[in-house]
Amino acid sequence: MNDEITIAVSKGRILEEALPLLERVDVRPLENPGTSRKLIFQTNHPGMKLIIIRAVDVPTYVLNGCADLGIAGKDVLMEYESDNLYEPLDLKIASCRLMSAGRKDTAGTGGRLRVATKYVTTTRNYFAEKGQQVEIIKLYGSMELAPALGLSDQIVDLVNTGNTLRANGLIPFENIAEISSRLIVNKAAMKMKQDIIKPFIKKLSEVIDR
Ligand code: AMP
Repeated sequence: MNDEITIAVSKGRILEEALPLLERVDVRPLENPGTSRKLIFQTNHPGMKLIIIRAVDVPTYVLNGCADLGIAGKDVLMEYESDNLYEPLDLKIASCRLMSAGRKDTAGTGGRLRVATKYVTTTRNYFAEKGQQVEIIKLYGSMELAPALGLSDQIVDLVNTGNTLRANGLIPFENIAEISSRLIVNKAAMKMKQDIIKPFIKKLSEVIDR
């Protein structure tokens, strides 16, 4: 049996908050992922390595078994919609909300809403559940710009302090989901490498801030 464990971690804000958590379970990359351009990092455990990748790619690597474990935002997991990943732990890091937002004067207007977002599936599901047909405009970033330039009536995006919304003349409308980072596990790895993965999950669960 291959006893090596690979953990895929979303880069950016999640990585910043995941590293101290990993440190608390005695997992430390041998180089600083914040300054190195490497994508694969050996850790103080010879059999354990980290790969640092874009958040949207984490479920793909874990689902395909190229990584045994992953740390990804609930926003990404909701959008990915896979039943084939275990999600045993809410790590309670990188917390924020997925919200709809727009200009004050567009709140509550009738007609078909145009909603700009990178969360196309989640947004479609959300409005469909409310019985509201919307036109979804797929963007890859800076969603806050879309209502200001008339590309859309609303946006669906992550909100933390609300400063970005305010700075762009938008107000939050509805809370779609509470978001935080989750530990995800490849199903085959959970069986084949349970002697390593189960104690690892237990250790992590003991250091999560409650
Ligand atoms: P804020 O101005 O603090 O409300 O943050 C909003 C901006 O940060 C938006 O551009 C979001 O896409 C991004 N953001 C907020 N929280 C997170 C998070 N937990 N992970 C990734 N991006 C985030």
